[in-house]
Amino acid sequence: MESLLSAKKRPQIIEKLRSETFDLVVIGGGITGAGIALDAASRGMKVALVEKNDFASGTSSRSTKLIHGGLRYLKQFEIMLVREVGRERAIVHRLAPHLVTSEKMLLPLIKDGTFGKFATSLGLMVYDVLAGVERADQRVMLSREDTLQREPLLKENIVEGSGLYAEYRTDDARLTVEIIKTAAQFEATSINYVKAEDFVYDAGGIVSGIKCKDMLTEETFAIHSSYVVSAAGPWVDKLRSINQSLEGKHLFLSKGVHIVVEHDRFPVNQSVYFDVPDGRMIFAIPRGKVTYIGTTDTPYDDDINHVLTNQEDADYLLEAVNNIFPTVELKQEDVISSWAGLRPLIHEEGKSASEISRKDEIFESDNGLLSIAGGKLTGYRKMAEKIVDRVAKKFRKEHDLRFKNCWTDEIPISGGPFSEPAEVKTYRDELAKRIEPLGLGNYEAKYLVANYGRQSEHIIERFQEFEDTDPQLRLARAELWFGVHHELVFDSADFFLRRTGRLYFDIKSIPPIIDPILQDLAAYLAWSDEKVAQEKQELEQMIREAYQFKYSKNHPSLA
Ligand SMILES: Cc1cc2nc3c(=O)[nH]c(=O)nc-3n(C[C@H](O)[C@H](O)[C@H](O)COP(=O)(O)OP(=O)(O)OC[C@H]3O[C@@H](n4cnc5c(N)ncnc54)[C@H](O)[C@@H]3O)c2cc1C
Repeated sequence: MESLLSAKKRPQIIEKLRSETFDLVVIGGGITGAGIALDAASRGMKVALVEKNDFASGTSSRSTKLIHGGLRYLKQFEIMLVREVGRERAIVHRLAPHLVTSEKMLLPLIKDGTFGKFATSLGLMVYDVLAGVERADQRVMLSREDTLQREPLLKENIVEGSGLYAEYRTDDARLTVEIIKTAAQFEATSINYVKAEDFVYDAGGIVSGIKCKDMLTEETFAIHSSYVVSAAGPWVDKLRSINQSLEGKHLFLSKGVHIVVEHDRFPVNQSVYFDVPDGRMIFAIPRGKVTYIGTTDTPYDDDINHVLTNQEDADYLLEAVNNIFPTVELKQEDVISSWAGLRPLIHEEGKSASEISRKDEIFESDNGLLSIAGGKLTGYRKMAEKIVDRVAKKFRKEHDLRFKNCWTDEIPISGGPFSEPAEVKTYRDELAKRIEPLGLGNYEAKYLVANYGRQSEHIIERFQEFEDTDPQLRLARAELWFGVHHELVFDSADFFLRRTGRLYFDIKSIPPIIDPILQDLAAYLAWSDEKVAQEKQELEQMIREAYQFKYSKNHPSLA
């Protein structure tokens, strides 16, 4: 069985893009572009989406992976933002309950910390109201004793109590890919590894498409369309500059890093949002075999195509943990993986990275290029609605064409259907029983359902066709088969990082399966031996970069 998003169909997809005319071309296959493609296609527009690398390879695989109401924005009095993202998260949870799961967050109250007891209690209550949190899920304030019982690793003599409140967890890259797949159900044509290099202009100088390059074959071609939206995240200004429209407001890029340690080395019982001595707050989030910690927030002016964790980032996060969880004594050697991403924020004069608003913004050039940047993973659906409304208005005014209103709040995201969150648990328990005789168990059932929902069935079916004795290898091979045939996987980073999250959450499982996975990829994608060797080198380099850090060019030790 081959889907619209099978890597085997790449030549047909490219042919379609080059030969047909579209209503809308979207540049960028992060969460913002994916959301726009789904919104526009589901209103009846004929949509193309190009991504220069892999889907979600920019910021959308490097976030804290929370679908959250943005408690910290309350501190900055961004009431409307808290309200909007809070309501959105409830919608996204309903549309993809397998992929967006509820997660309690512990907010310890620390002597001289960011929030006092009264302010926290009130703040969390306001947060619950603004975010429309259901009664059973609303915040609870815990005493000092209850807090330490829940989280005995906390520094005893500074904890004064805590608040326990509702958050949601996701996998950003999988959410992006599932939205691209959902858009395909409405006939959006999306492709990765196609870069928009320039624009096509009509006789009046108005943008009427893009000139692109297929990054896998080096071929160039044009895509013609009525309108073009750039959702290129940190690259938005680059495209505005190619379009000669980079004036007025511009982006400010802030780097955020997460480090990963084995859960055994930092065995928090639940997610914790805690104070750092410099006045910031960071998360520690347990996830399967690991705990991840983040994030930093520092101005960035280096290579935006290769953003790495540096030693200062790791030192900062390790120190922050050791400060409030003193018995843990995390060290550099404990870090097994990491990721670093760029927030594409809108520059505000005189404000530091942490102070700049996370609001999104639309730029429209005189020659018709629409760009959208800023915002949050959580708000992707609203961002999409806003910009597609703008496109629909243009269609109405300029072409007397009408499209449906936004209705993405009713479109389940691929991986279901699940009528309610409880059904996800029932399915997971039932799957765990079914896969037990195959040498898999609860961990794998949880992993499969969180990543693929009911699509796990395709993977389990394929699993049974491989004959390897190691069930973990069989599972990875079955997932790779699914990724290539249903999710446009073209290389090992697509697979190990963005489709399965192994690089971040199970890095140790990769080395023993590299060779068979590369052999399968070579067979599916007709790779030469040289290509396999090169791919292996690149993968090993990516693994090293995830846990071996260097000081940044600005570090005093390098002066
Ligand atoms: C450290 C960190 C933590 C965060 N945590 C959270 C969180 O927990 N919850 C939350 O809601 N939000 C969070 N965010 C914010 C959220 O991750 C971003 O707002 C969101 O991912 C931005 O998505 P995007 O699609 O706009 O950009 P991107 O994901 O960067 O997508 C842009 C895409 O455009 C492509 N592109 C660029 N140029 C071209 C071109 N010429 N042709 C074709 N394609 C091109 C890029 O390759 C890229 O894939 C976090 C951000 C950071 C950095």
